[in-house]
Amino acid sequence: MAFGWIDEQAEQRRSAGLVRTLRPRPADTPLLDLASNDYLGLARHPEVTEGAARAARTWGGGATGSRLVTGTTELHAELEHELADFCGFEAALVFSSGYAANLAAVTALAPHGSLVVSDAGNHASLIDGCRLARGVTQVVAHRDPDSVRKALDGHEGPAVAVSDTVFSVDGDAAPLVALAEACREHGAGLVLDDAHGLGVLGDGGRGAPHAAGVAGADDVVVTVTLSKSLGSQGGAVLGPARVIGHLVNAARTFIFDTGLAPAAAGAALAALRLLRREPGRAARAGAVARELHTRLTAAGLEAVRPDAAVVSVRAPSPEQAVRWAADCRAAGLSVGCFRPPSVPDGISRLRLTARADLSGAEIERAVRVIGDTRP
Ligand code: PMP
Repeated sequence: MAFGWIDEQAEQRRSAGLVRTLRPRPADTPLLDLASNDYLGLARHPEVTEGAARAARTWGGGATGSRLVTGTTELHAELEHELADFCGFEAALVFSSGYAANLAAVTALAPHGSLVVSDAGNHASLIDGCRLARGVTQVVAHRDPDSVRKALDGHEGPAVAVSDTVFSVDGDAAPLVALAEACREHGAGLVLDDAHGLGVLGDGGRGAPHAAGVAGADDVVVTVTLSKSLGSQGGAVLGPARVIGHLVNAARTFIFDTGLAPAAAGAALAALRLLRREPGRAARAGAVARELHTRLTAAGLEAVRPDAAVVSVRAPSPEQAVRWAADCRAAGLSVGCFRPPSVPDGISRLRLTARADLSGAEIERAVRVIGDTRP
């Protein structure tokens, strides 16, 4: 039977208690949210939703075509200009998602005969970029510039190292200065995914590359998502104008994809302007994460010290992680749950995300629920 093998896989998932299910979220939920990536609490900010509504009224419900045909509005150009300026880069290119931005950056910068050096903890979208790229990929140890150096040693031809700035599972940060040095020694480029750094790290939320002093360098390219701290949807690649020009001409997820919806561009632009006006939001998200970590540790839970807004709490087994998250939910708290195959190291966790708008009482309640429901 066609697709018969799917049923076997489904049965394996069922018996392991690891079936993924979709749970539609009502507009008004009584749950305390420590699961979304809305780090700055901007997704429902009136200026952001109005930015989306105004853009839809002006430009329509969709972009109407690919960026090179009809899908580039003046709003896209404005967003690209302001994003590049905010993060300290010469130019930016907006995509329909951060996933598409990562596929674009890696594939367009790793031609035939090139070497891609990829951190073992990288996000799935960077991994898929490596899989699609024409170059050869070498996976190296997590957060290890010496491994990057070794991999680059002796390679002839174009080379690029790719890394998350803040890793999405444990919330730990990459050593950006050392990575940039390793790449520079070998004449290699560096592609950094700042999905979890933008809006949280750096001066007023300008991101991890800005904080590390590598933003704007002619051998550094950064990808971001508009869907986390900016409370919208979409992604972008930031870098030297000549790299961005290359992506316009060579990146398939730019050329063959419909442009970002105007509403998403309008929401992201409103969020970016708000962040410029209220830079304290970025530092607050980090402070909430650290407070969560301190309180969790004090309660005897094993949590990774957060470098940005993601706080990871170890669970004893995949099944217990799934049940722990469900018990939190039943007690009014929404948390993320990462277990195999989402975590290749086999270690399951609850994944908490700090938000700048969480109150002290909410942080306390969250920690109490997590402690009370621990397996
Ligand atoms: N990179 C990282 C590190 C991410 O966590 C995500 C989102 N989960 C993405 C890229 C993809 O971004 P988007 O959701 O905008 O496609």
